[in-house]
Formats: sequence, C-alpha cells, structure tokens
Amino acid sequence: MAELIVQKFGGTSVANLECLRNVMRIVIETRRQGYDVVVVLSAMSGETDRLINLAKTAVNEPDAREYDALVSIGEQCSIALLSMMLLDQGYPAKSMTGAQAGIITDEIHKKAHIEEIQTEVIWQELRSGRIPVIAGFQGITPEGDISTLGRGGSDTTAVAIAAAMQAKECQIFTDVDGVYTSDPRVVPQARRMASITLEEMLEMASLGAKVLQNRSVIFAGKYKVPLRVLSSFTPGPGTLITYEDITMEKPLVSGIAFNRSEARLTLFGVPATANVPSQILGPLAEANIDIDMILQNSGEGNTVNFTFTVNREDYQQATNILERIAQKLSAKEVTGDNKIAKVSIIGVGMRSHAGVANTVFSTLAQEGIAVHLITTSEIKISVVVDEKYLELAARSLHTVFGLDNELREEFDPVSTLI
Ligand code: ADP
Ligand code: ASP
Ligand code: MG
Repeated sequence: MAELIVQKFGGTSVANLECLRNVMRIVIETRRQGYDVVVVLSAMSGETDRLINLAKTAVNEPDAREYDALVSIGEQCSIALLSMMLLDQGYPAKSMTGAQAGIITDEIHKKAHIEEIQTEVIWQELRSGRIPVIAGFQGITPEGDISTLGRGGSDTTAVAIAAAMQAKECQIFTDVDGVYTSDPRVVPQARRMASITLEEMLEMASLGAKVLQNRSVIFAGKYKVPLRVLSSFTPGPGTLITYEDITMEKPLVSGIAFNRSEARLTLFGVPATANVPSQILGPLAEANIDIDMILQNSGEGNTVNFTFTVNREDYQQATNILERIAQKLSAKEVTGDNKIAKVSIIGVGMRSHAGVANTVFSTLAQEGIAVHLITTSEIKISVVVDEKYLELAARSLHTVFGLDNELREEFDPVSTLI
C-alpha cells in the first residue's frame, strides 16, 4: 500500500461549498502524488457555535449526553458534502462518523478523551481504494453514546488517527499558513515559524494559541506524530513540529500566547488549616472544573485568602460551588472577576537566562498594565491582566523580545488569505 497522509481541515477551510471544493482539490492532488489519504473535517465555521447556542437557549443546563448528540452533527454535514463532491468527480470517498470510524472515547461528555481507535475499518476502506472522510471532534463511548472532544477537538481526532495508523505526516490545514510567533489576528507583526519544538508548541497550545488544540499536541508528543500546520488557502511549507532538542539555537523567547476566556475567583478570610486547598479544590474537581493558576496568601488574623483561575465558561458554576464552600468553612467573602486574560511568553531559550521576568514586568509597568497573578515554569512566564489590556500587553512584549517582523510591517497575514 502507498504511504499514508492524514489531512485535517478546520472550520474556515470548509466554511462553504466553494471552500469544500478547494479542500477536494487538495485531497485529489495528494492522491495524485501517490499517497493514501485519510481526511478529517471540522464543522463549517460558526456551525458548532450555532448548535451550542441552540442547546443553551432550549434549556438552562443541557443534559451532557444530548448536548453531544446535538453538537456533533456539524461535522456530519461537512463529511457528507465533501464525500459527495469527491464521488461526483470519480474519486471513491466514504463519509464516516466517529462511531463508524471506530473512535472509542471515555464517558466524559463534552470533554471526552480518545481511548482507542479501531483502525481496521479505516484500513479496509483504504485497501478498497476509497478515501475515508472522517468526522472530527466526535467519538463513541463503550455504551454506544456519541461523545465530543471539547472545542477544537478535530485536531485531536486527526493526530490520534495519524498516530494509530502510523501515518507519514498529519497535516492540519487552517486559515493561517503556519504557527506564528503570536496570534497574527492580534499581533500584526507576528512571524511564521518554519518549525517549532514540541515543548514550545505544547506551551503555546495549552496557554491559548488555538491554532492546535492542546490535546492534539500532547498526543503528537506521546506518539511522535510528524505534524505540520499549513494553510488551505495559500500554498507553502507551513510549520513543522519538531522533536529534536535544538535549545542551543533557539532565541530567548519564541512566542507569545494568550487566553481571554479566563476568570478569577477568590475566597477571602478562610480560617487557616492545613487542608484549605483540598477542601476548596475537591468539590471543584468533582464537578469536572479545571483549575489553572492557584495562589494562597495570608489574610487578616489567622486566616488565608485563596485565589484561583478557571475557564470563563465554568465561572458561574465555580462561583456557586465556592459560595457553598465559603459557608461550610466560615470564610468571609467570595469575590470574582470574569474580565481577565492571561498572557504568556514562551521559549526553551529562557531556561538558562535570568532577567526575562524583569523585562516582562517592567514592559507591562511602562504601559501602565497591572499584573494580578503570575506563574512561571522553566520555559514560560504567564501573567493575568485585565482583559482590556490583552492586545497592548501581547504587542508590547512581542516587540520587546525582538519578535516583530520588521520587513512585513504592512502585511496582514490573515486578511490576505481568504
Ligand atoms: P480551524 O478552524 O482551522 O481549526 P482555529 O480558529 O481553531 O482554526 O485556529 C486557527 C487560528 O488560530 C488562526 O486564525 C489564529 O487567529 C489563531 N492563532 C492563535 N495563535 C496563533 C499562532 N501562534 N499562530 C497561528 N495562529 C494562531
Ligand atoms: N467543530 C468543533 C469546534 O468548533 C471542533 C473543531 O472545529 O475542531 O470546536
Ligand atoms: Mg481549531
């Protein structure tokens, strides 16, 4: 059999019939080059949002199983459309839902993890000369219920299939021509990187650069999947995720990521005992709410103040839970802010350099931007700022760390693509 390439096309790449025709041409061209192709598609752009809004308008708290049954249909529309276009051109294609493609997940609806891909059925299609066109973002639980993988989950579907089938390359086609030093929509001076190390890509994705879903990068790292991000609108080599350790050649800071969907909660005046964190975090974990940053400091008298951040979507639920905990622990007050954002600078080159943090804080101070929370690791520094300062913070840090693309000052990488 020929070598295999997995090609995933995101929402803007399948936004309408013209875009789907463009996808069809890319797939046909790859076949012409002699490869077998497995295609993974997202829903047409805006469609998943529309379905989520429908669910939220229908009822206050949609049942998780039915939510997944609903939001998974966007992908089913695009795979059927592309398959009929390919068939119409004489290319044997076959649309496959997550269940039909043997994508087995756990039972955590809305954020399910892929546990296994029963690849035999996909291999069978390939052996029969067909092009499997698989719905991203969805799978099936062992009980036979439809599950979804969280926003941006089609990336993970594609990487997981590429890993399970040991594809030559997993290509993520999107609306930018690669991974940039920062989101080119927010930082117009951002530059495309020819390659990025897995470690840096992991940080970029988990800190908000949605060009690749976080979990897809984790998967890629675990199975060393050759992974490339490229544009479905402009030809080019894109950005390759690399696995070698090339720390020596790397600049201090390679990229700036941010996440505006953050919220902060603080429990003030909790009587100090050893297990304050677990009494607060336990009930949140039970409700499947992910906690990001955590800060505990001493309050008045023998009390502590406990601050943490969550995804903005979980803010209301987390506030309700925290109010119950506050009563139980006789804490003084719960406060929160859901208009905050996290800005992070990332670089494996930071490992051996002191003073990066100081540059971050003095740059932000010069711009008059207050920092509410800070976390650091060997290769990243994250700060929480008011959401209204997000763009200013990202752009000024991009400049101060020498990432600006001077030559392309007038170039807008996004609007020139479509
Ligand atoms: P798709 O629908 O193809 O999955 P996404 O919207 O999920 O596309 O991801 C692509 C978007 O990611 C780009 O349009 C860009 O705005 C954003 N993005 C954020 N950070 C980066 C980055 N560092 N490099 C490139 N794109 C980025
Ligand atoms: N359609 C899903 C979403 O919008 C999955 C994806 O596009 O990757 O989140
Ligand atoms: Mg995406």
